[in-house]
Amino acid sequence: MEFRYLGNSGLKISEITYGNWLTHGSQVENDVATQCVQAALDAGISTFDTADVYANGKAETVLGDALKGERRESLEIFTKVYWPTGPGGKNDTGLSRKHIMEGINGSLQRLQTDYVDLYQAHRYDTETPLEETMQAFADVVRQGKALYIGVSEWTAEQIREGVKLSKQLGFSLISSQPQYSMLWRVIEDEVVPTSKELGVSQIVWSPMAQGVLSGKYLPGEAPPQGSRAADEKGGADMIKRFMNDDVLARVQKLKPIADEAGLTMPQLAIAWVLQNDNVAAALVGASKPEQVADNVKAAGVKLEADLMAKIDDALGDIVESDPGKTEATAPQKRVA
Ligand code: NDP
Repeated sequence: MEFRYLGNSGLKISEITYGNWLTHGSQVENDVATQCVQAALDAGISTFDTADVYANGKAETVLGDALKGERRESLEIFTKVYWPTGPGGKNDTGLSRKHIMEGINGSLQRLQTDYVDLYQAHRYDTETPLEETMQAFADVVRQGKALYIGVSEWTAEQIREGVKLSKQLGFSLISSQPQYSMLWRVIEDEVVPTSKELGVSQIVWSPMAQGVLSGKYLPGEAPPQGSRAADEKGGADMIKRFMNDDVLARVQKLKPIADEAGLTMPQLAIAWVLQNDNVAAALVGASKPEQVADNVKAAGVKLEADLMAKIDDALGDIVESDPGKTEATAPQKRVA
């Protein structure tokens, strides 16, 4: 495993980070979840990403159980707050001081830890003053419940305002968690340059486009059993934006390119996001321990410029690069 600094902080994280969205507490049984976490630890992954909203708290509980007994100092545990949790009451959502203060306590309890290494705003809350949110984060850090603060799917301008306030309040906002993959490159023109200027890293989600870039979904064929696209508990709904024959046919063109690089298609997809030097980690999911073992081999891989160009040629115009999509795909109102 290779490790990278998170933003301009002294914190090192594993460049392949294990994330448990849609899997733990939902798609996979708890024993499989534990095996996946063990496979991650065995492969040298030390960083784990979850959120209070995943399976409405169950994903944090499953991860906390799976990491029990591990040396806390050797792990970096990340979680998030924003989306509605618990019974979904009027204050069980957003980035108000009340929800952040209550949210962190619930997350720590479920994760069975005294602190998280990174606490992230899972989206921008258009209904809470940013000053209130940042003051609450400052207090969470001062209480020792989180060491660093991050954001997810914020625009370049929102990141700039957040970093400015964090400096005034004396804590470190060091990461941005956007979607980024060969298919979804919307951060490249605005979020990445602004983040570089401000000392903020990207930790990127769905680097394999939820499994689509693994090449296992074939145009015109039903998804393999047990895959996310066949998961009626939530996965199928989430992945559907990529599940069209045009995309799937283009993705098949990546197979000879992966072969040429001596990589599997999942490894090629993960290595691709790691070529961007503003990316501190690829947040990779897995529903089976064998997938973790396959995926971690993308660590430290260098892709030459001609190979990167071949990828662009293969994918053509199915790549989404419009920087306006960060704002356009974010909630315009706080989600109740
Ligand atoms: P990926 O793009 O890595 O997709 C992971 C899924 O792809 C797996 O669950 C598995 O699904 C399939 N897969 C993984 N490895 C292989 C392999 N070697 N061969 C074939 N199929 C494979 O990322 P996710 O979409 O899971 O997101 C990763 C993490 O990012 C999340 O867990 C979360 O931490 C974070 N995230 C953050 C968001 C945010 O808003 N901040 C939003 C979404 C995710 P299967 O086997 O079921 O097909």
